[in-house]
Amino acid sequence: MAIYKYIDIIEIFKSKKCEILTLEKDYVPLMTLDYKCECGNIGKVKLKNFKLRTNGCKKCFNKNNNEEYIKICEKNGCKFIDKYLEKTAVKIKFKCKCGEIQIKKITQFKNLTMCTKCTYKIRSLGRRHTIEYVKQEFEKKNCKLLSNEYTGAFQSLDYICSCGNKTTIRYNDLQNGYKCRKCKLERTIATNLEKYGCEFAVQHISILHKIFVSSHKWKIYKFNNGKEVKVQGYEHLALSLLENKHKIKQDDIITQFDNEIYYTFIKK
Ligand SMILES: [Zn+2]
Ligand SMILES: [Zn+2]
Ligand SMILES: [Zn+2]
Repeated sequence: MAIYKYIDIIEIFKSKKCEILTLEKDYVPLMTLDYKCECGNIGKVKLKNFKLRTNGCKKCFNKNNNEEYIKICEKNGCKFIDKYLEKTAVKIKFKCKCGEIQIKKITQFKNLTMCTKCTYKIRSLGRRHTIEYVKQEFEKKNCKLLSNEYTGAFQSLDYICSCGNKTTIRYNDLQNGYKCRKCKLERTIATNLEKYGCEFAVQHISILHKIFVSSHKWKIYKFNNGKEVKVQGYEHLALSLLENKHKIKQDDIITQFDNEIYYTFIKK
């Protein structure tokens, strides 16, 4: 906020056909100032508000062509409150039909005579997709939508994932790059292989092949802390590697997924 000298303030009031009444000896920057308009009105105003006016006291300024804005407001169920001049832009203060008080630039005000909240509401309604559109979006991601109704981005939708897994997802999550837990797990394993380096990856994959051929049956894996989980294929081996080689505690190994076991882990 700019601080003006008294001598400059005299000029600002003069330029808008007013006269400052506050005396120089009483003047303190940012204070409310007494002034007299050429129409004879005496008023009080803060300099920053006075500068928004084209000329005169508030009454004189408001007299100028407000009918147009009042009409626009009435047409849109709003109520005109005030207008300001800011540099080259006129700003309109009005009460939206929802009750919200808003100040908008004249062009925005004429385009959409409503508050930003109402504008947003209208836009999001427009953005609500049809079931056909949503179906196509699933197809683009190699997934198949099974639900026949779409009510919004946060609704759980039945679908067949690109990995073949039948499960549910929210449209919003799909658009944010998420897929099912199985896919997430595969990504986690890939990341972990990368993170733990080539040696582990090679070792892991060679063992994986050996085990994979010989075993698809369920077995019980017992963690060092005694907790037991049902595992399949190479999983008991992977769990053992995580626990013994990489010293990851059982609590940090998450095991869950329908009847199968999937794991992911958080490196501390
Ligand atoms: Zn006046
Ligand atoms: Zn509104
Ligand atoms: Zn998947």
